[in-house]
Amino acid sequence: MRILIANDDGVYAPGIAALHDALADMAECVVVAPIKDMSGVSSSLTLDRPLHPQPLPNGFIALDGTPTDCVHLGLNGLLEPVPDMVVSGINLGANLGDDVLYSGTVAAAIEGRFCNRPAFAFSLLSHQPDNLPTAAHIARTLVEHHERLELPPRTVLSVNIPNLPLDHIRGIRLCRLGHRARAKAPVRMVNPRGREGYWISVAGDVEDGGPGTDFHAVMQGYVSITPLQLDRTFHEAFAGLDGWLEGLL
Ligand code: MN
Repeated sequence: MRILIANDDGVYAPGIAALHDALADMAECVVVAPIKDMSGVSSSLTLDRPLHPQPLPNGFIALDGTPTDCVHLGLNGLLEPVPDMVVSGINLGANLGDDVLYSGTVAAAIEGRFCNRPAFAFSLLSHQPDNLPTAAHIARTLVEHHERLELPPRTVLSVNIPNLPLDHIRGIRLCRLGHRARAKAPVRMVNPRGREGYWISVAGDVEDGGPGTDFHAVMQGYVSITPLQLDRTFHEAFAGLDGWLEGLL
C-alpha cells in the first residue's frame, strides 16, 4: 500500500511529521504538502500558474500550491506508482461542524476521494503540538484497520482528537457535524502607511453542539469521527422548489 500524506499547515508543520512517523512502517508513505501554511483555503486549485514540486532533505515534497493542488498532482501524474490512499493532517486546530467548509485539511482528504480506500483527515484540538502523539496514535490505529471498513465510494472520514494525553482519551464516537453561529466580526485595522483593511476573525461559537455532534464528543474527551459525503444536493429542498418553478417559464 502506498499512502499520500498531505496537510494544510505546510510541509514544515510538526503535525505532518508526526503523521508520517506514525504511518511510515505500515505502508510506503509519500508526503506532498504546501510550502507554507494554507489553512482555510478549502478545496482551491491553483490555475493561474504552474506548480513546482521541490524535494526536501527529509524526503518530503514541498509544493508552492494549496492542499488540493498537492493531492491532485500526487494522484494525477507526480507520483509513480499512484498512491492507493490519502491521509491528511495532523492539523493543529479543530475542524468541527462548519469548519469543514473552510478546512484545507479536510479538502486534501476530499481530493483523495477517487482512491478506492477511504480518505482520512486528522485534526488535533490545539494549536500547540504537545498532544500530537495522542493524535498520531489514533491516526495510526484507524488507518491500520481501514481494510475491515465497508463504505460507499467517495467517503471521507474527518477525525478530531481532543487535546489530551492518550490515557485521558475516553474512546471514539461516531458523530454528525454540529453547527457554529456566525463568525466574529472582521477586525478593522489601519496599516503603518494609513491604509485601512479588515482581518477576518475567529470562527463562531458552537450553536448546535448537543449529544451526537462532533463538538459534544470532543468536549467529553472522546475522539470524534464523522463520515463526510460530497454530494451537496439538498434533497429536502426539492419539494419547495418544485412548486415554485412550475409555470415560471
Ligand atoms: Mn491548518
